[in-house]
Amino acid sequence: MSGITIALSKGRIYEETLPLLAAAGIVPSEDPEKSRKLIIGTSRDDVRVVIVRASDVPTYVQYGAADLGIAGKDVLLEHGGEGLYQPLDLNIAKCRMCVAAPTGFDYEAAVGRGARLRIATKYVAVAREHFAAKGVHVDLIKLYGSMELAPLAGLAEAIVDLVSSGSTLKANNLVEVEEIMNISSRLVVNQAALKMKRDLLQPVIAAIEGAVK
Ligand code: ATP
Ligand code: MG
Repeated sequence: MSGITIALSKGRIYEETLPLLAAAGIVPSEDPEKSRKLIIGTSRDDVRVVIVRASDVPTYVQYGAADLGIAGKDVLLEHGGEGLYQPLDLNIAKCRMCVAAPTGFDYEAAVGRGARLRIATKYVAVAREHFAAKGVHVDLIKLYGSMELAPLAGLAEAIVDLVSSGSTLKANNLVEVEEIMNISSRLVVNQAALKMKRDLLQPVIAAIEGAVK
């Protein structure tokens, strides 16, 4: 594929990405929230955008189906980052990954007495590493969404999830009991494309970098 293909997900990342792309002279010709199209042209003949699930962005870029992509650190850690060059933290879609539990659950005490904890999460890789580093024994239960429900329904004692304002936790009688890491979105680049299409990609990366600063 000649030209540049950029993999983006709809929603918060897309909105915060638009000004960064504009700095590189790239303006999508349609709004993916309104259009059903999954391939969208841009103001530049040589640049197109493909709309994929947030967690699929690294996969498209890894295999070279997209040259560039924007993905959360959460998604990149679960993917593993294989085949991806990650030149820029874009400082967008900021939130934090944390452990949350029902307000009545004494997480510290449970950890202190060495209890085996059932943890529901979409972020199994990050959670496994976090609890292993603390020496806490956990049974991880993989979910694909609505983690907040798990403790309420009796599926797990606690969850690992992303939090920004905390209002979703609060609405479900959960509290953050431990922060794991800060999360933001990064630019990812296919490593082979960076070599083969350097003349095309480097100015786009530089323009985005300038817009971030
Ligand atoms: P899908 O909705 O397709 O299942 P998703 O829930 O991962 O995927 P989004 O909700 O758009 O997709 O989240 C995309 C990215 O935005 C996440 O990977 C994360 O990096 C970041 N993010 C998630 N939740 C928040 C939040 N509450 N505040 C700020 N950024 C967030
Ligand atoms: Mg979501």
